[in-house]
Amino acid sequence: MTSDLRLMAVHAHPDDESSKGAATTAMYRHQGIDVMVVTCTGGERGDVLNPAAQRDVDLHGLHTVRMAEMAAAVQVLGVQHAWLGFEDSGFPEGDPRPPLPEGCFAALPLEDTVPPLVELLRRFRPQVVTTYDEFGGYPHPDHIRTHETTMAAIDAAADSDYRPELGVPWKVLKVYYNHQFTRSRVIALHEALLQAGLESPYDEWLDRWDEDRDMFARVTTRVDASDFFEERDAALLAHRTQIDPEGMWFAVPMDMQKRVWPTDDFELARSEIPVSLPEDDLFAGLRQQPAGLAASLMGDAAR
Ligand SMILES: [Zn+2]
Repeated sequence: MTSDLRLMAVHAHPDDESSKGAATTAMYRHQGIDVMVVTCTGGERGDVLNPAAQRDVDLHGLHTVRMAEMAAAVQVLGVQHAWLGFEDSGFPEGDPRPPLPEGCFAALPLEDTVPPLVELLRRFRPQVVTTYDEFGGYPHPDHIRTHETTMAAIDAAADSDYRPELGVPWKVLKVYYNHQFTRSRVIALHEALLQAGLESPYDEWLDRWDEDRDMFARVTTRVDASDFFEERDAALLAHRTQIDPEGMWFAVPMDMQKRVWPTDDFELARSEIPVSLPEDDLFAGLRQQPAGLAASLMGDAAR
């Protein structure tokens, strides 16, 4: 199956594409929709979270190992992939927080981070783009920068006055924020585990979690991608330095996940087409359009 539909998922680090919306990207690929994952940074300042991977890191360096892990995850998900080529900012810890490393992704101005994404948008021409919300989904400086860069690049890509040498202008029709880690979802999984007499790894997490801060309230679009949870997990496991196979990611039995929370959840942040919310498909409103519509929606920008 092939279609003219294209989805671009913009992420901060290698592994984010596998922990946020991965089953959805695998599902769309299965439907014949072209999917491109864009990774803004190389993840060079990540920690090694799986002791079993330490030896490879000592031998080859974290950057090289994470490039190889990403290639393996991309193969599992069946998507196209592009690196934006920026340097991981690391997660600043301490009080006061240390300054960002010079030249890292979050320390660069948008004038530097936007153009390579504009070029990719104009080349790949996705109708739908996913990224993070204005808080980054969680407050890693690279995640917040990913949000800012993506939103600015979407505007710039459609602007015929912006850097014409980067390609023919392209207007993205729908923009979504990933909301994978909502309090509602974690509570549902936590309670299902306890009901089944299993241990929950979420206790401490939930204790610290402000009750008013549940991004599920902003979810507009729930995509049932549960048939692709196995692919998602296989992609996650490819990120061996980041994912401990004994860890929290795999605490909930697969059949329980599919029963209790079978969806990837998104917030429609912008749309250029009429929509009816809630939705269950990122391409809602785009599937039955005559081929000319997307082009005509582009207006002058297409020419
Ligand atoms: Zn990340």
